[in-house]
Amino acid sequence: MKPLEYMARYNHEQLVYCSDKGVGLRAIIAIHDTTLGPSLGGIRMRPYVTEDEAVLDVLRLSRAMTYKAAVAGLPLGGGKAVIIGNPATDKTEALFRSMGKFVQSLNGRYIATEDVGITVQDIEWVSQETEHAVGLPVSQGGSGDSSPPTSFGVLQAMKACAAEKLGSDSLKGRIIVIQGLGKVGYHLAELLHEEGARIMATDINPQVVERAIKEINITPLNTEGIYDVVGDIFSPCAFGGVLNNKTIPRLKCPIVCGCANNQLLEEADALRLERRGILYAPDFVANAGGIINLSFELTSYDPEAAREKLLAIRSTTEKVFQRAHKEKITTARAADRIAEERIEAVRKMRPIYL
Ligand code: NAD
Repeated sequence: MKPLEYMARYNHEQLVYCSDKGVGLRAIIAIHDTTLGPSLGGIRMRPYVTEDEAVLDVLRLSRAMTYKAAVAGLPLGGGKAVIIGNPATDKTEALFRSMGKFVQSLNGRYIATEDVGITVQDIEWVSQETEHAVGLPVSQGGSGDSSPPTSFGVLQAMKACAAEKLGSDSLKGRIIVIQGLGKVGYHLAELLHEEGARIMATDINPQVVERAIKEINITPLNTEGIYDVVGDIFSPCAFGGVLNNKTIPRLKCPIVCGCANNQLLEEADALRLERRGILYAPDFVANAGGIINLSFELTSYDPEAAREKLLAIRSTTEKVFQRAHKEKITTARAADRIAEERIEAVRKMRPIYL
């Protein structure tokens, strides 16, 4: 891993190594692009085996945040942070307050929030040392858990997909195949249930599956067999890389739309989906609800205004499909182009204000 070479290839601005031996903090903050505004992205805590693994993860994730914010029309750039450690055993107040000091040292170029392995409590500790943290509890003027707005946003993207591929935006009676009933997937299933959709789902946690059978009448599926299930929408809501040269040939749903980040294992998978006639809602377009909701916390949190912006995920998804048609490119490429053009247009405008 040669971080500077990687940064030059993908236009990253800054990589910050953070070490505080006294509290056991080893962390890395990556700022990809601040053309549109300060970089915002979650802190992820994982027991990375090697430093290279952590560096690659933070660089890759920060770039994805730039694209997500740009397509969603937010005045934000892309950033991310990783803490090398085990979230089950290594968390202390001192560790997160130390992390908060590093975030503060960047003077607002990076705004921290939750990601995998991090809770609202951890962000509260971070925020004791920096004003540049969001995702605080509603009781503290924050926007709370980002999962419900993410689920709501995915639902809007699904409606755009259904209108485009199935001839009607109604999800009533449609079969939605959900992989992963976690924070986002479960609430998405609830919203779909309210829409009258039929939900088939899997999760490696049997308790959550039992609950979903009782509460929302889902049909449980075998974890391995999920790619072969006949339905209307396949919804990856567990982890990334699930759309690849092994799974795509098996898919029997004409639409893929879910909340997981980095669903395509490689760029070529977008073309694989298109060749099979499967409509793909690019992940960072469909799952932008969390960051959209968080962005409202930067001013003063207004749930109504946030909801309006979440509803707009539908029109953003439609624009991506129109662009793909017009330029005969994949939907993934179309979403990238929309993001890149917005960033370039603002970059050009910058010297006027310098
Ligand atoms: P989560 O950890 O709450 O849920 C993931 C679920 O997937 C868990 O219930 C887990 O048991 C299940 N799972 C794991 N492996 C599985 C497998 N092989 N088959 C089926 N189920 C499996 O996470 P989450 O917050 O719901 O996020 C889900 C995805 O959405 C992640 O990729 C995350 O990065 C992405 N995302 C989340 C948000 C957010 O606001 N939480 C926002 C944008 C994107």
